[in-house]
Amino acid sequence: MKPFRLFSFLFAAWPVFAHAALNVFACEPEWGALATELGGDAVKVYTATTAMQDPHHIEARPSLIAQMRRANLAVCTGAELEIGWLPVLLQQSGNAAIQPGQPGYFEAARQVALLEKPMVLDRAQGDIHAAGNPHVQTDPRNIARVAQALAARMAELDPARAALYRARLAGFNTRWNAAIARWQAEAAPLRGMPIAVQHLGFPYLENWLGLKQVAVLEPKPGVAPSVGQLADVAARLKATPARAVIRAAYQDPRPSEWLAAHAGIPAIALPFTVGGSARAGDLFGLFDDTVDQLLRAAR
Ligand SMILES: [Zn+2]
Repeated sequence: MKPFRLFSFLFAAWPVFAHAALNVFACEPEWGALATELGGDAVKVYTATTAMQDPHHIEARPSLIAQMRRANLAVCTGAELEIGWLPVLLQQSGNAAIQPGQPGYFEAARQVALLEKPMVLDRAQGDIHAAGNPHVQTDPRNIARVAQALAARMAELDPARAALYRARLAGFNTRWNAAIARWQAEAAPLRGMPIAVQHLGFPYLENWLGLKQVAVLEPKPGVAPSVGQLADVAARLKATPARAVIRAAYQDPRPSEWLAAHAGIPAIALPFTVGGSARAGDLFGLFDDTVDQLLRAAR
C-alpha cells in the first residue's frame, strides 16, 4: 500500500502547493500596498506597521515574529530605517529564506538614488542614517522604480506566476505614469514654495515638487523640539517665511501646531504613507491627498 499512499499524497499536495499564495511581509504600508498592486490574489500581504506608527521605532512583538516566520518575501525600506527592530525580527523568525542577501529579502531604498547622505557619520546627531535619508516613498517616481524591481523579485520567487506579475506591473505602470503626469501638472504652483518640516521626512517630496525647506523643527532627527527651540525657529521664519509647516500623520502634532499658531501659517499633516489619512486608502490616494493638501496651503 505504501507506493499508493505516497502517490496519493503527492497528488493531493501538489495542486495546493502550486496555488499557494506568496506570503509577503511588508515593513511599511506603502510596500504592502505596492505588493498588493503587483500580486493581486497571488499574494497574501501582511503589513507590520500602520501609518500612525513611527517606522523608526517599532516594538519587535511576538505577533510580528510569527508573521515573519511564515513569509516567503520580506519587503522593507532599508537604509537603516528599521535598524532598531527589523534585525531582531529577522533573527527571531529563524526563517532562512528571508535573511539579508537571500532572494526573499527586498529593500526598497536599494532601488533608488538616496538623498542626504551624511558627510560625517555621528550618531550623537540623532537618527542619522549612514546610507542616506530612508523616506523614499514620498516621491512617486521612486515608487515606480521600486515596483519594477519588486515585480521582478516576485517572479523570481514564484516563477509559475511570472507572467501574471509582469502583466500586473505593466498595468500598474500605465496607471501610475498617468497619475504622476496629473500630479505634476496640478502641483506646478508649488514649485519654490517655502516650507518648514517637523522631521527630515520629506526630502524626496521636496525634490519632486520643487518645495523649498527653510526650517526643521526637530533639533536632531527623532528628537522633539523644546518650546525655546520652537521660538528660535519662529524668530528665524520672520526673515525667511514659510507658507506651511509639514509633519507626517504619525507625528506628535504639538510642535507643528505651536509653530503654526506663532508664525501664522497652516500646519499640515501629510499622510506620509498609505492609511495616513481618510483619502490615502491606496498609493494613488496617498499622492492625491498630499498634492491637494499642499495646494490648499499655497492658495
Ligand atoms: Zn526619519
